[in-house]
Amino acid sequence: MKDKACKKEKIKKSIMLILAFMIPYVSVYFSDIVGLFKNNTQMSSIKVLAATLNNKLQDSNDADFFVINNKPSAERNNVATKFKVLMNAKINTVKVIVNNEEAAVLYNKEEADRLIDNLKGYYLNNAKINKSTITAMDLKGNIEVKEALAYDWELDTMEGALNKLVNINKNNNLILETTAIEKHTEELSPSVSIISSSELNVGESKTQQGENGFKEIEKKIIYNNDKKVNETIIKEVIVKQPKETIITQGVRVSEENLTALLIRPSRGAISSFYGMRWGKMHKGTDFAGNIGDPVVASMDGTVKEAAFEPTYGNYIVLSHGNSIETLYGHCSELKVKSGDKVKKGDIIAAVGNTGRSTGPHLHFEVRVNGVAKDSLKYIPKTNGS
Ligand SMILES: [Zn+2]
Repeated sequence: MKDKACKKEKIKKSIMLILAFMIPYVSVYFSDIVGLFKNNTQMSSIKVLAATLNNKLQDSNDADFFVINNKPSAERNNVATKFKVLMNAKINTVKVIVNNEEAAVLYNKEEADRLIDNLKGYYLNNAKINKSTITAMDLKGNIEVKEALAYDWELDTMEGALNKLVNINKNNNLILETTAIEKHTEELSPSVSIISSSELNVGESKTQQGENGFKEIEKKIIYNNDKKVNETIIKEVIVKQPKETIITQGVRVSEENLTALLIRPSRGAISSFYGMRWGKMHKGTDFAGNIGDPVVASMDGTVKEAAFEPTYGNYIVLSHGNSIETLYGHCSELKVKSGDKVKKGDIIAAVGNTGRSTGPHLHFEVRVNGVAKDSLKYIPKTNGS
């Protein structure tokens, strides 16, 4: 009778075990509820457990074991804990190993592959690489996925496995080499050219504003894990040329703008004005001074003459363009020669008493089209200092 009951029990257990293998959604009872399994992956791990369980039941009559169809609800970890306590059973897992160091325990090869993909994603994310720019990716290093038995509770979650893997790879035993072709545009500033125009007076200018252009740059960038290690420009195309900025500066000298251009050629006080003097025309303005006092160019120009003549003594004629000239007479010394370019304010001579002169002074003339004008129309009447 006892043998018969025992046999009946064994048959019952066998049926339940078969059910455990065949029904995709099951609850497993072993005296108490052990757990609920939601899918085939979990079913495959329970097969190992069921087999072990069966062995135990062979030696024990006080335990009952059956499998029924039920709504899935329990968490895998709770199930695992119960199995661990009840069965002390191991299941089929895979271990991910980096340089002989165990990084993670996962259910199967597919999960291990997903973990490796997640590691790649982690580095790409950290390096902020736009995935559409990637042309090549190569994971170098010693990473293995090995089948092994482990307790269910040893299994890592995907997130936990990734953290462990990143941590183990701190010294970069695994190198994900990513090649990306990145494009960007760069602005090109316009160049500036300055041209002279005799349409405009000296001191006047107009600006024709240019426009920015841009170029497209294509770079090949190599990353190791999340670090950029190499960058090469492989293509540079100017999509739009910048349009240059043109500044037109006036060079025209005319009688109308002389006031703005001429400065006093000497600091000395005016000792004689332009006009009739002793029944004769005095064509210039005289500035009193001592021999050796500086005489400066009244405006920019070219030395047309630097010579001696009985009336003006040592004299200089500067040409300023557009038939405007200035003359500096009775000098003791000439510091420039014919053909020299001079700037307004340059010392060109020294005050003297050469030629027809009754004492040291500078005789200064402004000539427009060869006609002497009253220079005091154009220069400050006092020396301003
Ligand atoms: Zn004079």
